[in-house]
Amino acid sequence: MSSTWDVVVIGGGLAGLCAAIAARRAGVSVRLLECAPSAFRGGNARHARNFRVVHEAPTRYVPDAYQAREFLDDLARVTQGDSNPCLAQRLVAESETIAAWLMANGVPLQQPNVGVVPYSRRTVFPLGGGKAMINALYSTATDIGVAISTDSEARLSRQSSNGNWSIDLTTATSSPSSIDARTIVVCAGGAGADPAWLRSHYGDAADGFMVRGTPYANGRMLADLIAAGAGTVGDPTICHMVAVDARGPRFDGGIVTRITAIPYGMVVDGSARRIDATGAGAEPTHYARWGPRIAACAGQTAYLILDADGLQRAAPQAFPPISGATIADLAEALGLDPATLAQSVNAFNAALPAGAHPIASATFAAYPMRPGVTFVHHGVAVDDHMRIVWADDRRNDTLFAAGMIMAANVIGRGYLAGLGLTLAAVFGRLAGTEAARHVHG
Ligand SMILES: Cc1cc2nc3c(=O)[nH]c(=O)nc-3n(C[C@H](O)[C@H](O)[C@H](O)COP(=O)(O)OP(=O)(O)OC[C@H]3O[C@@H](n4cnc5c(N)ncnc54)[C@H](O)[C@@H]3O)c2cc1C
Repeated sequence: MSSTWDVVVIGGGLAGLCAAIAARRAGVSVRLLECAPSAFRGGNARHARNFRVVHEAPTRYVPDAYQAREFLDDLARVTQGDSNPCLAQRLVAESETIAAWLMANGVPLQQPNVGVVPYSRRTVFPLGGGKAMINALYSTATDIGVAISTDSEARLSRQSSNGNWSIDLTTATSSPSSIDARTIVVCAGGAGADPAWLRSHYGDAADGFMVRGTPYANGRMLADLIAAGAGTVGDPTICHMVAVDARGPRFDGGIVTRITAIPYGMVVDGSARRIDATGAGAEPTHYARWGPRIAACAGQTAYLILDADGLQRAAPQAFPPISGATIADLAEALGLDPATLAQSVNAFNAALPAGAHPIASATFAAYPMRPGVTFVHHGVAVDDHMRIVWADDRRNDTLFAAGMIMAANVIGRGYLAGLGLTLAAVFGRLAGTEAARHVHG
């Protein structure tokens, strides 16, 4: 093994894998450090399904067309302009080649016409899901000579006078050590999985949040960088959260615990009073409106109430519904006040919101819900070479970042389906390429 690595990639999620593969293919020595144990490697891409790509015409893997102009307009709309235009353009332009690049690196894609994925002209689905994609990329990285260590947490130590970095390494099996690197690409994800960090920005309410993704994206690297003087972007008090089943695990519930049945019923808080999420209809983005709404409820808990008809229309959820033969029985099973719940149901039925179904047919059912954090709109500032920008506007030619840790440069707020993976893959590939270019001089 080299004593000084050309490129050390910190974090073995999608961004880190793409950075490591791109750098290694550019001919430099690469070591990838992943703090999760091998079975949990891969970060949040393990849970992900699809990524957003520009394409001018139908391909084998995505129907119709999705033009760059449309992607940029969609981005501008959801971010309300809170997006670095240069990076946004780069993301969109390079999304056009990312599917082919991933395939060339071993990731099979799902054909859209075989009936197992929903129609989507904007996004591509890796065959077998995000976990299969991650496994394929780990396999390719190993084959081309990336040295990979799982169970290995990196902390930034110092930059010596010759410009090389020293990285402190804690592993599960050996005593702490340090390794040297000419360049570092930080792909360690955001801070949203650290309960203490969440608490510091969201107060006591954070104790009621679930974290949908890996507990290993713990934000310690982000904290190291900020402490070392990295500039920040975004707002730590804005996070993407959705309604998840309150009975799911606190961490890593992924997409299966998300409650998708909300359009078929009515939501009440812990006092059995109906609550609404402004503008939340049946469109897919409504999930992200319900997360913050439930976070604002007492105890960060709300209940989706359905009748037999609504339950039948909705897709099955991960956990079975709590049921009652009458609304009063249901209230009792949920620990809610029966009279208030009956009043809320009656009022809902009497003035049905557009597109809603009455709650009338027994048996009645409910899902208890909590807010589930997907990611936080906060991270380090980067320039268009993926170099971290310091708070005093300096750049460090040897320190790069990619993926969720810098996503807020492009999505200061808002979200589009499939953006997280595209951002991780495109900017990971770019950061790895730039790091290797720096090594080559
Ligand atoms: C439930 C869920 C579903 C999603 N679905 C989709 C989807 O369908 N489409 C989409 O586009 N996006 C989706 N996303 C978002 C997408 O998964 C992420 O945006 C993307 O995977 C981020 O990749 P990343 O590599 O930047 O960060 P992460 O996936 O967070 O990976 C960071 C990695 O760094 C490691 N690490 C952290 N600190 C250290 C350290 N100090 N030393 C070593 N290693 C460290 C972590 O263990 C982790 O493996 C989803 C997210 C979640 C939570």
